[in-house]
Amino acid sequence: DLVIGVLALQGDVREHLAALAECDVIARPVRRPGEIDEIDALVIPGGESTTMSKLALTFEVFEPIHKRLAEGMPAYGSCAGMIMLADEVLDGRADQRSFGGIGMTVRRNAFGRQVDSFESPVDIDGVEGGPVNAVFIRAPWVESVSDQVEVLGRVASGPATGRMVAVRQGHLLATSFHPELTGDLRVHRLFVDMVREG
Ligand code: GLN
Repeated sequence: DLVIGVLALQGDVREHLAALAECDVIARPVRRPGEIDEIDALVIPGGESTTMSKLALTFEVFEPIHKRLAEGMPAYGSCAGMIMLADEVLDGRADQRSFGGIGMTVRRNAFGRQVDSFESPVDIDGVEGGPVNAVFIRAPWVESVSDQVEVLGRVASGPATGRMVAVRQGHLLATSFHPELTGDLRVHRLFVDMVREG
């Protein structure tokens, strides 16, 4: 059976574990270097990318994860997890580091101070049955992408209309929003399908 790890340094780890458990895979929290070798794929949760970056270095999982991603291990990042998969981060802290892998520039806390969090229906390529209810919490958006990146979803209404919020590059998937908080398993299933196909 597929073993999918959830990076358990900080953030909404439990919610991702619960969503994955419903997708017929073995889901386990990972935070030690040795545990990174034992997983088929990785979910990087929402939380705070500056903290996650710091803890990944402290727990000595930064390099092991970076290496496995470069070797093709599939990963899905939501919100802070998206930032961790971005090749370039705007409005980050000077010392914050990302694993990278997706040829995109993301802007942290992009939706503005006056809207800390909001929900909006977003159609996702590859997700059937209508738009997902996307929950954004101090979320990044994707400011630009390389031609390797598939844009799977954009904000459909309001002041941020057209902003890219779901992307895929090969074995890597990222969303600005948090499907793990909604009980809608379709984005997790999309990721599990990606892992099975790879
Ligand atoms: N603003 C956070 C960051 O920069 C992300 C917020 C979230 O994951 N909900 O990491």
